Amino acid sequence: MLELEASCLTPEPVLKASGHVDKFSDLMVKDAVTGTCYRADHLLRDHLVSLLQDTQSDLTQGQREEIEALRERLDELSQKEMDEMLSMYGAKAPETSNALTPAYPFNLMFATQIGPSGLLPGYLRPETAQGIFVNFKRLLEYMGGKLPFACAQIGLSFRNEISPRAGLLRVREFQQAEIEHFVNAEDKTHPKFGNIRDVKINMYGRSQQMRPPYKPIVTSIGAAVDEGIIANETLGYFIGRTAVLVDKIGMKWEHVRFRQHLEHEMAHYASDCWDLEINCSYGWVECAGLADRSAFDLGNHSEKSGQELTAREVYAEPRHREVLAAIPNKGLLGRTFKKDAQTIMKSLASMEEAELLALQAALASKGKASVIGFEVTKDQITFKVEKRTETGRNYYPSVIEPSFGVGRLLYCLWEHCYYVREGGEGEDGSAIRAVLGLRPSMAPVKCAVLPLSKNALFEDMVKEVGQLLGRAGLINRVDDSGQSIGRRYARADEIGTPFGITVDFKSTEDRTVTVRERDSTKQIRCTIENAVETIRELVAERKTWAQVCDQFGVIEDV
Ligand code: AMP
Repeated sequence: MLELEASCLTPEPVLKASGHVDKFSDLMVKDAVTGTCYRADHLLRDHLVSLLQDTQSDLTQGQREEIEALRERLDELSQKEMDEMLSMYGAKAPETSNALTPAYPFNLMFATQIGPSGLLPGYLRPETAQGIFVNFKRLLEYMGGKLPFACAQIGLSFRNEISPRAGLLRVREFQQAEIEHFVNAEDKTHPKFGNIRDVKINMYGRSQQMRPPYKPIVTSIGAAVDEGIIANETLGYFIGRTAVLVDKIGMKWEHVRFRQHLEHEMAHYASDCWDLEINCSYGWVECAGLADRSAFDLGNHSEKSGQELTAREVYAEPRHREVLAAIPNKGLLGRTFKKDAQTIMKSLASMEEAELLALQAALASKGKASVIGFEVTKDQITFKVEKRTETGRNYYPSVIEPSFGVGRLLYCLWEHCYYVREGGEGEDGSAIRAVLGLRPSMAPVKCAVLPLSKNALFEDMVKEVGQLLGRAGLINRVDDSGQSIGRRYARADEIGTPFGITVDFKSTEDRTVTVRERDSTKQIRCTIENAVETIRELVAERKTWAQVCDQFGVIEDV
């Protein structure tokens, strides 16, 4: 997989071609008196929920069902439908109960001008993907013209969200990690599919969303692709890799599901789309979207920029075929159309077979026809069938796109890892029980280095342990703040530090230290060198804590 770092500032034509200038918007309404802005779908949803919850209301069962159905499809409402629904259900500005303005689209991109003239409009990118598409030719060249290949990009994206909220979940500037995998639409198999075929996921496919009990089912990626539920191997491959990733970083499996977009949720060009949804205190949150975007992106950029963003498929054997060709009568066309004759001939040469057949039929029946707005006659163009040998064809690659929101993943991970230890530890139980149970590989600090107490006797050795850990590539933090050892362990637990090395009086005699593991709170004793090596193995997940306990023996009297 290639990696790219494109610019955040994006000229308008790029985002015009991608559809963002015209379509990347949310519907908004304002309080008609105060001018406070609201996202229309959020406001209507909250209003519908309060209608449903109102114990005084005299809604019939039928009306309730209608409201519930509407609540599920709020993001599909057109501007006109939104106005109709807001008025039909009597929605008002939530804080003031004032009337609302009609809904209007609000483009989520931050606009700016590029350069001093103010004549070049641009935007902060709303997604990183476009930087990959516009660089497609270079990436293809780098790959020696061969498909499939993928390119990844991690970077900031900017969206002028109407109501940012919920910590990292909805912000205006967020870290995205996107992959664009380019593949021939005729062969969406994936060479490494076998590696993830047996990976199990909680699959919330269309049929599970439409029928009771409205719950995901557990299935393997292989089965979902074989049954045609996931559209193809490549999309399945990335769903499987995503499932492995979230498991490996420590998400709770029962709070992770893959939800397939319903037909009406997908963009018209997409052939299949799945969201990685993770359950947290805000409910199920979309943390990544995995979509088969077909050939939409490269086709559009080619059309708008005039750069042909295609790949070439070379046939194993040359193919011979007979094609219809239009033969212009150059002299006659030149005399009739003067300088426009060239344009007409160019158009004839680039016509597809179907267009040529239609032209031929029109000239045969009516004696005249239109070619790019010019009226040509039967005597100006003849047709003949030619034999052609083709060695390959140019085509727009399909794109499979996994798109991750890094902040959302991290936020959910913190919630999944956070727990409160029963009874606490140390003398001040109430304040010190919070633990961030991050996997060692994910914890920013791998090891706390703690002198047993603030005694000058321990200083050199504490420094040495810190240095040895650093040299082994293990980020560590010395805590010699003088608080009780229990409190300092607790402080390390709270920020997710998985291991702690403590230097005590015995250490100064025999160069042994204790190593403590965060979740079990068990300790072992070994030499400094063994301790560093052991932590390295644990962080790399080459050893388990249970194996380390067996090897060195757990200290019982701590
Ligand atoms: P989208 O292009 O809308 O499918 O977004 C791709 C991913 O970016 C989503 O799955 C989210 O994880 C993340 N994302 C989108 N909008 C925001 C936002 N306002 N704040 C944080 N993350 C976001």
